[in-house]
Amino acid sequence: FLAKGTTSRVVLPPDLFAPERRNSAGLDLAAEDVLACLGGEPPEDVAPEGDGEAIRNPADRGDVVGRIVFATCADADAAVARAVAAFPGWSGTPARERAARLFRAADLLEERREGLMALLVREAGKSWPNAVSELREAVDFLRYYGAAVRDGFDNATHRPLGPVACISPWNFPLAIFLGQVSAALAAGNTVLAKPAEETPLVARAAVAVLHEAGVPKEAVQLVPGAGDVGARLVASAAVRGVVFTGSTEVARAIRRRLAERLNPDGAPVPLIAETGGQNALVVDSSALAEQVVADVLSSAFDSAGQRCSALRILCVQEECADRLLTMLRGAMDELRTGDPARLDTDVGPVISEGARAGILSHVAAMRARGCPVHQAPLAEETAAGVFVPPTLIEIESIAALDREVFGPVLHVLRTPRAGLRAAIEAVNATGYALTFGVHTRIDAAIEDAAALSAAGNVYVNRNLVGAVVGVQPFGGHGLSGTGPKAGGPLYLRRLLADAPPPGAA
Ligand code: GLU
Repeated sequence: FLAKGTTSRVVLPPDLFAPERRNSAGLDLAAEDVLACLGGEPPEDVAPEGDGEAIRNPADRGDVVGRIVFATCADADAAVARAVAAFPGWSGTPARERAARLFRAADLLEERREGLMALLVREAGKSWPNAVSELREAVDFLRYYGAAVRDGFDNATHRPLGPVACISPWNFPLAIFLGQVSAALAAGNTVLAKPAEETPLVARAAVAVLHEAGVPKEAVQLVPGAGDVGARLVASAAVRGVVFTGSTEVARAIRRRLAERLNPDGAPVPLIAETGGQNALVVDSSALAEQVVADVLSSAFDSAGQRCSALRILCVQEECADRLLTMLRGAMDELRTGDPARLDTDVGPVISEGARAGILSHVAAMRARGCPVHQAPLAEETAAGVFVPPTLIEIESIAALDREVFGPVLHVLRTPRAGLRAAIEAVNATGYALTFGVHTRIDAAIEDAAALSAAGNVYVNRNLVGAVVGVQPFGGHGLSGTGPKAGGPLYLRRLLADAPPPGAA
């Protein structure tokens, strides 16, 4: 499979920069323009437009991006019943045909890129570069899972599970949403798609694209809502598999609930969960400092640190720490944290007031413990939204961190020479195992990192974020998730029943 950027042909259209579409803040398409760009019929099942929840721009809380009616538990039950009824038809559709519809959806996403990216900026607070890469990743997922079933995947030897609930996060409201959904659909399952309550509009647009591409309306239904709706789907006996990305706590609750029943073939209800991380990068004195600074900035502060893969703990060899940290603080101060609609913004908002409060209370607690804290400046316009300045906190031990802080907060630990093994042991001991990195020019250190880190994705002399579908399958272990990795060859297997259908050879 090809890498991101070669499978997708996303480019910014020239008219996106036309004067009439630009306001004083930069590129901020009006809500109507966004919806007009999306085209297609909105899904009519359980997500009517009109009254309902106002979805607000995290960069400007006064900006209502759109409205959506959240599903009730009764709506969710009705959607499950439709998904059950639609299952024979969709699972009986030749895999090659299912793939063709996913490929068509990928093409439509590329055609609608302006509106979708504008929605990613306004609803999820994505910077423009992040919106571009997210659109590419969504396209890559559709093509990757489509290609996986196009050839040699026949319905006589592969048995899909049935209705599958896909419960997705707000941090990749298009890419992870469509990654989960396209995998489940490719395998022949019908899908109940429950987007994060913060970002249902992008999800709604994505489902409209799938319908337009020929996936039957009942084969993929949007079930927007809060946690109660997701819990209802998980509890439904007719739901035969769950794909979840989000917090470790919710993943645990889902696992407990699914353990209460078996699928009709007597097998446990499959769960794919991708959860948090306590991700570290170890830097020794042989590393190239300029490269380290660039990779730390993107790993810790890109997407305002709201990636599961983001760097949380930088371990720097004592001998080079002062120099590196001086460079890093200087580079942090050059970041522009502000309205993501502006092309010169590097770091956008965090997703909500609650998220900001949690992050800032962690920073305050670390300050109260005596940890030195450095915070980069915020741009003027940030008063209208929910922003957290890029923050660097010096810590004395990894054990002092008791939870994942999902925001632009980087912890720095000075480590002794040859401290790599001890650092890896301390990181492994957190129980999280998602991403890990090493910056070094010493071969033995690279070999140690690869051999000893428990992380699902280990990176050498580069940043920790932006795993490419099909090239760097993404996922972790322990508190970080169940595997199999997204965008990898084993993912679809978990979305199929173990036993072949009756009568198959
Ligand atoms: N796949 C993304 C990356 O490699 C992270 C996904 C997530 O945050 O859940 O950066």
